[in-house]
Amino acid sequence: MSAAARKARRERVRQAAREHGVDAVLLTPGPDLRYLTGYDAIPLERLTCLVLPVDDEPVLVVPALEEPAAVASPAADLPVRVWQEADDPVALVAGLLGRPERVAVADQMWAEKLLALQAALPGTDVVAGGLLLAPLRARKDAAEVEALTEAAAAIDEVHAQLGRWLRVGRTERDVAVDVERAILATGHVRVDFVIVASGPNGASPHHAVSDRVLHAGDTVVVDIGGEMPSGYRSDSTRTYALGRPDPQAAEEYAVLQAAQDAAVRAVAPGVPAQQVDAVARGVIEAAGYGELFVHRTGHGIGVQTHEHPYLVAGNSEPLEPGMAFSVEPGIYRPGRHGARIEDIVVVTDSGVARLNHRPRDLVEV
Ligand code: ZN
Ligand code: ZN
Ligand code: ZN
Repeated sequence: MSAAARKARRERVRQAAREHGVDAVLLTPGPDLRYLTGYDAIPLERLTCLVLPVDDEPVLVVPALEEPAAVASPAADLPVRVWQEADDPVALVAGLLGRPERVAVADQMWAEKLLALQAALPGTDVVAGGLLLAPLRARKDAAEVEALTEAAAAIDEVHAQLGRWLRVGRTERDVAVDVERAILATGHVRVDFVIVASGPNGASPHHAVSDRVLHAGDTVVVDIGGEMPSGYRSDSTRTYALGRPDPQAAEEYAVLQAAQDAAVRAVAPGVPAQQVDAVARGVIEAAGYGELFVHRTGHGIGVQTHEHPYLVAGNSEPLEPGMAFSVEPGIYRPGRHGARIEDIVVVTDSGVARLNHRPRDLVEV
């Protein structure tokens, strides 16, 4: 992302702020700060805060010991105000703001920071910054789509090696160690999560890893993701079978594959987000497995793994070109097994592009 792109983003946030009667936006370390400045600051007890007034220059308030990191980051193009250990950074931020009627704060600002700022700004209305930032972050520009494409290619490379690591007699944890190393070796800078859910553990969608030993005939849900140097995330799931799977699992899997494919093909500009969920759910319900599909069909992805838009019943927001999200239906049979297929897709001007390309069948290893 170029400095000009980040400046343009700040301009768009200011415009959105004006439209919502917001006088300033306050961002502590997190995805919104990174999105607007490129600064991947560590959330700490000491206050780091971007103060972005609608009608004045932005200022990055940083503690003295974080100054070297801040000026070494892409945020170096912003005016920086440094506070010393004995200073009151909240008073400093309040002083930069004057008497605002309404401010927006980062959705993930720590409660202790928010409460201190509210105390320092009596009479100021405080709203969640997602109101302004989520719609912008949901629509990716070409550089962001490129970053997500690179992330998807990197995680596909990891899935391509799973066949070597999934072996009868190894534990989920053994496999996860190999996966974590590969996530870093394929270009990610951080492992976000590793799910290796074998046999009955596959029925828990967010099972992480355990010491369960892999058995012949197990199906194994492998859902993995990480962060690229760009800050953009990967997230992809494939389900593997250790030898010949149980016939019930294979039958459910065929339905799941049809559902995922139909849902991806339903993605197009103008289609309500919930429609994609309805298509996936419709295929699974028609096969009689509706009650085994226990979560929404997908989530947006960008500088955060889960962000807007969410593909869930009740979200009638129309999809727009540039929106990037997962399509990840699953079928979970408690006590027995589970399966999920997850690809990241991007809405194009005329339809949809998949970013993940590994085979989607039940991969026998
Ligand atoms: Zn998830
Ligand atoms: Zn996932
Ligand atoms: Zn996901």
